[in-house]
Amino acid sequence: MKRTKIVATIGPRSRDEETLAALIAAGVDVARVNISYGGHDDHASLAQCVRAAAATAGRTVALLLDTRGPKVRVGTLADPIPLSPGEEVVLGEGGIPLTHPQAVDGLASGVRILLADGMLELAVVGPVRGGVRCRVIRGGLLHGGKGVNIPGVALSLPALTPFDRESLARAGEMGFDCVALSFVQRPEELAEARRIVGQGLWVLAKVELAEAVRRMQEIVTASDGAMVARGDLGVEVDLYQVPLVQRRLVDLGNTQAKPVIVATQMLRSMVDAPVPTRAEVADVANAVWDGADAVMLSEETAVGNHPLAAVQAMAAAAQAAESGDVPIRVPGLESGLVGEVSAAIACAAGRVAAEVGAQAIVCATTSGWTARLVASHRPSVPVVATTPHRDVARRLGLVWGVLPREIAPARDEGDLIHSSLTAAREAGAVSPGDRVVFTAGLPFHKPGTTNLVRVLTVP
Ligand code: ATP
Ligand code: MG
Ligand code: MG
Repeated sequence: MKRTKIVATIGPRSRDEETLAALIAAGVDVARVNISYGGHDDHASLAQCVRAAAATAGRTVALLLDTRGPKVRVGTLADPIPLSPGEEVVLGEGGIPLTHPQAVDGLASGVRILLADGMLELAVVGPVRGGVRCRVIRGGLLHGGKGVNIPGVALSLPALTPFDRESLARAGEMGFDCVALSFVQRPEELAEARRIVGQGLWVLAKVELAEAVRRMQEIVTASDGAMVARGDLGVEVDLYQVPLVQRRLVDLGNTQAKPVIVATQMLRSMVDAPVPTRAEVADVANAVWDGADAVMLSEETAVGNHPLAAVQAMAAAAQAAESGDVPIRVPGLESGLVGEVSAAIACAAGRVAAEVGAQAIVCATTSGWTARLVASHRPSVPVVATTPHRDVARRLGLVWGVLPREIAPARDEGDLIHSSLTAAREAGAVSPGDRVVFTAGLPFHKPGTTNLVRVLTVP
């Protein structure tokens, strides 16, 4: 069984229920909808489609809404535009359309403009009415909707656009379990998003700006999890710093038992090719060894030619990395958490499981917190999280090694143990006669009361 979670971006190549069900069966744990594309109705119907496909596949899938953020993009193009090095083009009015043409106002000659996560590069020649004239430095085929970055030019816009605010306010009702905030710069922006989405949903921080890297610790503390958004990060910060930021952000998440997703270009060549490159397989493996909770597919599943093969390759790469004898990095919980009862119980559960040769750790959890603490130690056996709350079960889809199962609210301790072990068996994690380590809190159904570890035999 694969332990690392897979996030797949849903787009034109993966939005039908049949394909979605196949992707989910192949190992997708989280479906990402990037609201940069389409309107509210599209996002709501995508979410519904994912729910239906998850039901068909008989799996729990989390739905992640990714905000637009103040990102300048190329507008809609009738056809992709080929750009050749040396050629001059106009960005803005009368030329290549931009979603925010004012972004190029007053740019000095010589300023570099990067398109499509830096695949294409332009240099400003001079102003024209409603835009700028540029020389193509690095050419290629430019598609509509691609991002436009002007590194070094400060972003004065807030992280949430009016469209994002509307979407966040409706995220729960549309069926989303978590939201990822693009272009976060300050912890306050996460708090504000949390106010808009309301209770329950997780708010993840996409680290992709230099300011977010500078304030990474505070940002992780203010969030429920994070994403190494390597696309914009590689242009906004510095391409060669991306692996260092990845390692630091994954570590920070793990010290707070918050999930971290590694994203962008993981299997990029599979947009066209049916097999990944060696380097891509190694990238997935290294993310697993860094301690990432989840690895993500973007255009590979949204617009690529081999969405199912991409998920299969990612699952195979992750599983191979997990089952070798290369240890996964475990930085340990931050000092503020050490000494908390639930953290101590989680640590003990992992040790007991290893010593008695348990086949699984079963956490009866109300909020999911104990399961996250247990998983932060990266135990070698599955962590089955049983909870009476469907939304908690879904969100745990993001957390490394956790198999979430929804159970009926228990009447008493015996009932809780019985339904939790039955759920673990149904999840395929254990068989009758296996030993498990069981954790729960008494009195139960009160969050934050985990105080019990028992070794049990599966009936
Ligand atoms: P972000 O900065 O948020 O990652 P992005 O433009 O890189 O934005 P991704 O969600 O990473 O977008 O997806 C990668 C590519 O897949 C996009 O550039 C776009 O071409 C395509 N894509 C993704 N989702 C959709 C969609 N719903 N409809 C059409 N194309 C999509
Ligand atoms: Mg992207
Ligand atoms: Mg981005």
